[in-house]
Amino acid sequence: MTGFFQLLARNRLALAGGVVLSLVILLALVTPLLPLADPDVTDTANRFKLPFSEGALLGTDHLGRDLLSRLLWGTRLSLAVGFAAAIVAATIGSAIGIVAGFYGGRTDNLIMRGVDMLMAFPYILLALAIVAALGPGLFNALIAVAAVNVPFFARNIRGITVGIAHKEFVDAARLAGLSNTRIIVSEVLPNVIPVIVIAMSTTIGWMILETAGLSFLGLGSQPPQADLGSMLGEARSALITNPHTSIVPGLMILVIVMSINLLGDGVRDALDPRLKSGALSRPMAATRVDRKGPLPAPTGAGLLEVQGLQTQFHIKDRVYRAVGGVDLHVAKGECLGIIGESGSGKSVTALSVMGLVASPPGVITGGAAHYEGEDLIGAPYRRLRGMRGRNVAYIFQDPLATLHPLYRVGDQLIEAIRAHRPIGREEGRRKAVELLTAVRIPNPEKRIANYPHEMSGGMRQRVGIAMALANDPDIIIADEPTTALDVTVQAQVLTILDDLRRSRGLAIIFITHDFGVVAQLCDRVAVMYAGRIVEEGRTADILGAPRHPYTARLMACVPEVGGGKRRLEAIAGLPPVVDRLPEGCAFAERCLKAQEACRRDEIPLVRDGASAVRCLYPNDPSREAAE
Ligand code: ADP
Ligand code: MG
Repeated sequence: MTGFFQLLARNRLALAGGVVLSLVILLALVTPLLPLADPDVTDTANRFKLPFSEGALLGTDHLGRDLLSRLLWGTRLSLAVGFAAAIVAATIGSAIGIVAGFYGGRTDNLIMRGVDMLMAFPYILLALAIVAALGPGLFNALIAVAAVNVPFFARNIRGITVGIAHKEFVDAARLAGLSNTRIIVSEVLPNVIPVIVIAMSTTIGWMILETAGLSFLGLGSQPPQADLGSMLGEARSALITNPHTSIVPGLMILVIVMSINLLGDGVRDALDPRLKSGALSRPMAATRVDRKGPLPAPTGAGLLEVQGLQTQFHIKDRVYRAVGGVDLHVAKGECLGIIGESGSGKSVTALSVMGLVASPPGVITGGAAHYEGEDLIGAPYRRLRGMRGRNVAYIFQDPLATLHPLYRVGDQLIEAIRAHRPIGREEGRRKAVELLTAVRIPNPEKRIANYPHEMSGGMRQRVGIAMALANDPDIIIADEPTTALDVTVQAQVLTILDDLRRSRGLAIIFITHDFGVVAQLCDRVAVMYAGRIVEEGRTADILGAPRHPYTARLMACVPEVGGGKRRLEAIAGLPPVVDRLPEGCAFAERCLKAQEACRRDEIPLVRDGASAVRCLYPNDPSREAAE
């Protein structure tokens, strides 16, 4: 809840609206205590006195009544009726919406068709009809305004409830034997209340206007009682000769409705969970770069060379060092594996290269990523956009989430090509079929007309690969592309990638947490822990004789088929949280060989020929090999 108010306070306009509205409400509340003239006492000798005249701060109206007093009493009444109407409409409308959405079927149909009938009439016409039936009067105006707004709430809340009623936690509550009433109260209601609050905050202003409208027409508050609408209505005839009598209530309506709407927008933004994690802003097109100190120069190693890359997430006053100085490079036709536990910074490293880390909260604070000698970190967005997919393409873990559910896969492939070069419909189709053939999708002419949900997981991932290949990139960064697939499909996908690498000279950076996959595909492998590379080298060397204790422990967790009965050793403890990294080696806490020195200073990555290790007491490869 404190988070909600902080977010709200950060939104200047909403804050201003909130302050103004609070002042108005405060004024309305203390009105009976103020030394005001009686709002209803007429004094025709003193008609149409101008504002700031003796004894009448805002002047008097056509019957000589004190305008200030009428304004404050009128505001009080208008606010009360507006809020009351909003609460009544929200309560009844939401209840209808929840019942319709939760029970569905015939109940839903019956209720919603009734609501549709109400919605078929224009708001104000319907309100007029209701008041005409009930007779004029403020209370009847309230009923009318509330009634015409019920459908709005019912529709909104029904939509949300339908989504929630089929969620797993509701099923779980059903399985636990809870009654429908209990489920609605304890499972559904808490999830729709934010939506109700949002809908209310954005409609109260509208309801105050509607009430004023009815009073203006003489159907709401009856003379001599003042509300803002009736004040406007009575001042209408003197609009030209004595404009102040209309301006005073008119301004008040403007101030109230505007402050409510500004505050309502702020409330809506602050309650939106998607905006909660970051600041109240959209992610930027490319990751924010804020590098200090000298930048590393390219050494010409490989096609893509990442040096000292540091990426952090700045959330409130915390700094999460997700990537803390990563060096790696990959050459044409080479496959580099990046392996590490979940949360070790593999994805963030990969996304940083093309500026794809969401900002805020992500910031690249150091290092460089040279692609053919050009530094991509901090490159202009136009340049990055031109290269994304064209030179460096990505394949992600979940192809169902990366493919658009409403477009055919063929069209999505064509769109990927068109992003970088103009091609005609026919050529696009031909190229799409060609790509699907390249990733060995059987029957590609038929398959391009499929929607993503009509394909199996493995099939979709092949489409993902085809899409990455669409523009003949030089580098493909595959972020756990096979994690969601079963083993046989995984093997097929790996074979496809391996063939493509050989036939097209692709460089592949393959992110995984599976040593089996690394062994099958990668020439070299880098092991990541807590945002840093702890060991790097040729796959055969590392698999044969891991030097960093973490790598060794990680491999001991992998079961081997036909490897006899071996104890699987889970690594005790958890990886450190990256906003509180320990001094020295991040793995020391969990390491069996850790010494005093390991916890003291920064441990450098020591290079020795083709391999490198970040450890003071690495395992000795020659001894291990002899064992
Ligand atoms: P993995 O190695 O499993 O791919 P990631 O690179 O996704 O790990 O994440 C590395 C660290 O960065 C994790 O501690 C994660 O919590 C943090 N992180 C990743 N994305 C975000 C984000 N958008 N906001 C805040 N923290 C993030
Ligand atoms: Mg990841």
